[in-house]
Amino acid sequence: MQFAVPAPTIPSLPVRDTDARFPVHRIYCVGRNYAAHAIEMGHDPEREDPFFFQKNPDTLVVNGRFPYPTQSNDVHHELELVVALQGGGSDIDIEHAYDIVFGYAVGLDMTRRDLQGQMKKMGRPWEIGKAFEHAAPCSEVVAASAIGHPVEGAVQLYLNGELRQDGNLNQLIWKVPEMIAYLSRLFTLAPGDLIFTGTPAGVGPVQRGDKLHGVIAGVGELDVEVV
Ligand code: MN
Repeated sequence: MQFAVPAPTIPSLPVRDTDARFPVHRIYCVGRNYAAHAIEMGHDPEREDPFFFQKNPDTLVVNGRFPYPTQSNDVHHELELVVALQGGGSDIDIEHAYDIVFGYAVGLDMTRRDLQGQMKKMGRPWEIGKAFEHAAPCSEVVAASAIGHPVEGAVQLYLNGELRQDGNLNQLIWKVPEMIAYLSRLFTLAPGDLIFTGTPAGVGPVQRGDKLHGVIAGVGELDVEVV
């Protein structure tokens, strides 16, 4: 096929123990999915319907280097379990949701908190706070066939060696199959989609030179330097 301008490359993630890569189609993110984080952001921790926003696939970072973005003085780390889909569709039942999961990864939903806050106040979309360049550092994907479907395990973010976020997958307000079922009523899910599942409490600012180390027990690790 001939394209009128250079065709974009397909963003992808490494897959543990194979040379095959995971091609990324869309990135969905879930907001306020841990009660303690909802409280720290000034919200009611009650179980409301989940809500979603998206990041662009080409904002993925796989080389461990996060360039501090422009137009912000308050960039926060949000460590999250990432679900990688191998199937898709609409109106997926909770009971069948795991069938479309290829595997899992460890991701950072990097956030320009100051810009997100301004947009919230004005009732405008969050894109400039969430979908900027390099906003989605992510680890390799590990197949569910190798690790199963994790439902508990520590979710921890260390900033320069200090523990800052310390949650557990068993604290997720909306569980992975519920998120998939809910999302699939709003969007047509597809192979290559990623779902960032929300962050536990302890989010905070990063500075150039900081070293972030994320761990999700049973899933993997992610090391990122802010440059
Ligand atoms: Mn998040």
